[in-house]
Amino acid sequence: MSGSLEFETLGFIGLGAMGKPMVIHLANKLPPESRIYVFDVASQVVDELCAQFPNRVLKGSSSKDVAQQVETLLTMVPEGAHVRSVYLDPQNGVCSADISNKLLIDCSTIDTATSLAVKRHITQNFPSASFYDAPVSGGVVGAVKGTIAFFLGCSETDPNVQRLIPLLSLMGKQVIPCGAPSFGLAAKLSNNYLSGIIAIACSEAMDMGMRSGLDPRTLAKVYAAGTAQNTICDRFNPVPGVYPEAPSTGGYKEGFKVQLMQKDFSLAVDMAKRVGSKNVLGEVGLETYEGASRDPRCRDLDSRVVYRYLGGQEDWQSKTNGS
Ligand code: NAD
Repeated sequence: MSGSLEFETLGFIGLGAMGKPMVIHLANKLPPESRIYVFDVASQVVDELCAQFPNRVLKGSSSKDVAQQVETLLTMVPEGAHVRSVYLDPQNGVCSADISNKLLIDCSTIDTATSLAVKRHITQNFPSASFYDAPVSGGVVGAVKGTIAFFLGCSETDPNVQRLIPLLSLMGKQVIPCGAPSFGLAAKLSNNYLSGIIAIACSEAMDMGMRSGLDPRTLAKVYAAGTAQNTICDRFNPVPGVYPEAPSTGGYKEGFKVQLMQKDFSLAVDMAKRVGSKNVLGEVGLETYEGASRDPRCRDLDSRVVYRYLGGQEDWQSKTNGS
């Protein structure tokens, strides 16, 4: 890592499933003199982090308060409406503080229009401040392990890249500058669209093969050797028991929640419409994830539970004696 880390005061807003482990990496890896000011509307997690890192992680009273205390600020909240509120709320938002010269990085997965609106507001009111979209991939497990990837909404030659990459690398293993503002989000949404479609297609293909009499492990080997090879089939196979570490094998418990896939998929379909991209799989994919998110057998489980939603057979091992 570069030796030029100059992050003496850092802020972090949104300490949920992703944000909390990201703050823990920062608290463990930033230089000893650095201080991290945190805020979340849920105060319990703020108190937990402050207690875990006394004199290192400090409690902010609002987004505005955190913004006032720090030079660099990261945000990680669920949706566009939350990002608007965190940045633009006239009483307590980040932009109600003087954020001149500050570096602001939003890691939330949201629509590109909201991200660009926040950036525009900041540029107009605080021309010396810099705002970046930097959504992540890799899930909660990746956030805990520090292996997430950041998709950064700027070019490789952006003047702040040499500050952003070392900072984000404290929390993840890859930082990919995607070219321009909001392109990190556009890249992330198109990635999740593709991954969501592959999970549905993989579920259907496995199911038709199994109903024709094939062992799903044989099917997975065939796809891996053939033109259907893909990561969902290889490492996140929707059929339980095909890949030992896939969420499906653990009852779909760990992984990327189906409601989050529905949210990202829906944002991707909206983005496609907005930019005039023809999208024949979008509506049917969205219907599938909306249905699975509402289904009590699937809700809150890993998104590859779409295999269950589509009626796939899960207890195939008992029928083949687990051989
Ligand atoms: P989460 O719901 O677990 O956490 C969000 C946190 O934001 C909560 O603690 C909530 O209290 C806080 N919050 C909401 N509004 C706030 C406000 N106005 N001010 C301060 N705090 C506020 O969500 P998460 O799983 O951590 O996801 C965060 C973002 O990361 C989402 O956009 C999600 O799509 C994206 N993401 C999640 C995953 C994943 O696997 N969970 C993977 C990649 C990306």
